[in-house]
Amino acid sequence: MAVEEQNRTVTGVGLEAKLGVYISVPFCRSKCSFCNFASGVSSAAAVEAYVTRLCREIATAPGRAAELRVQLPRLVDTVYLGGGTPSLLSPGQLRRIFSALREIFEVAGDAEITLEAAPGQIGDALLDEALNQGVNRISLGVQSFVDRESAAVGRSHTGSGCVEEVQRLRRAGIRDLGADLIAGLPYQTEASWQCSLRVATGIGLTHLSVYMLEVDEDSRLGREALVGGSRFHAHALPSDEVTATLYESACEWLPTQGFAQYEISNFAVPEHLSRHNCKYWLRAPYIGFGLDAHSMLLREEQATEATDGGFRRALRFANPEELAPYQDGACSSPFRMAASSGASVTEIGRSEAFEEAIFLGLRMNQGVSPARIGEDFSADMLASAECAAGELMREGLMVDQDGRWRLTLRGRLLFNEVFTRLLIGVAA
Ligand code: SF4
Repeated sequence: MAVEEQNRTVTGVGLEAKLGVYISVPFCRSKCSFCNFASGVSSAAAVEAYVTRLCREIATAPGRAAELRVQLPRLVDTVYLGGGTPSLLSPGQLRRIFSALREIFEVAGDAEITLEAAPGQIGDALLDEALNQGVNRISLGVQSFVDRESAAVGRSHTGSGCVEEVQRLRRAGIRDLGADLIAGLPYQTEASWQCSLRVATGIGLTHLSVYMLEVDEDSRLGREALVGGSRFHAHALPSDEVTATLYESACEWLPTQGFAQYEISNFAVPEHLSRHNCKYWLRAPYIGFGLDAHSMLLREEQATEATDGGFRRALRFANPEELAPYQDGACSSPFRMAASSGASVTEIGRSEAFEEAIFLGLRMNQGVSPARIGEDFSADMLASAECAAGELMREGLMVDQDGRWRLTLRGRLLFNEVFTRLLIGVAA
């Protein structure tokens, strides 16, 4: 299936009735130097207490939804256990989480159920339990198949160990296997990046996520690089220009190997897109449980074509980023939790929904349909965005193809600038 053909199959139609569930398991065996996620190393007792808290949060979800006046579909068609390293859970803990979920929700027989895992950190017993619970997709945090690069950022696995892990998981019956790769790691060169890409595309993986390393205050490596230090191998980071080149080369080369790009950071062989992650970009409802987990649920009362266009009114809310307030929080009320612990609740009305439709839609290679946006929002909003879009097309950052606005490769690299200019056009 060609790239465009594959992408055309991804629509938000009918997704309102089904829920995506994200479960955050924020524990790792050690902390990677580049990591800016809310994750860390904790004791076995802390993990056990967290699972108890998580199950209680799942049990109270219908009450929370009623209080917020949002729809909570009972039918779940995607579950994603992310982190952190969910593969470090014990089989009993994994079982408890799925039991809590099935008490409240109906997990569809054909649901996509993903477990994030670190290579070499999925015990046989946990893998058996995952299969028992219906896990059919595993996403491995590889980052690089080159040993020197993995070791530099604190990863304990080797490239050959990752290949063996993929073979083991396939033998165990997991057919949907993905890996994350990072462009811009210390010591990375165009040759070593090509080596990682070649291994990744030659071992039967079905999905690849390619991220550019973020150098910012939120990670130890980023902080060191910003002050010009050399701890954490910060002196060996490639330049921003080289990192951008590595990303571009992945965007150009992976499709030639059968991995179609369908989103800024995501590539898949046909029929193996991440259905769960597509919900985020298509503004379909999902609920997150656990530390720093985010949710978007549709309002009970929706805008209608006759009154206010057809956009989806929604509420976004997030759990605390710190373990202590999450662990202590009164999760029966997101509003109380928001007031006391840094969690957030955001109403998504017409202008926010418009921004999201552009921002999230353009992340996908299939782009956005201005005609559809014009129907869902006001003609004025569309006209202003059209003006900015015309300029961006003349500059080669966007194209209008088959009636859809899409980013070019350069536009994907400068995504934030593109998005800002589209919205400034609307606000002006
Ligand atoms: S395993 Fe993943 S979540 Fe854990 S520290 Fe490393 S990058 Fe962060």
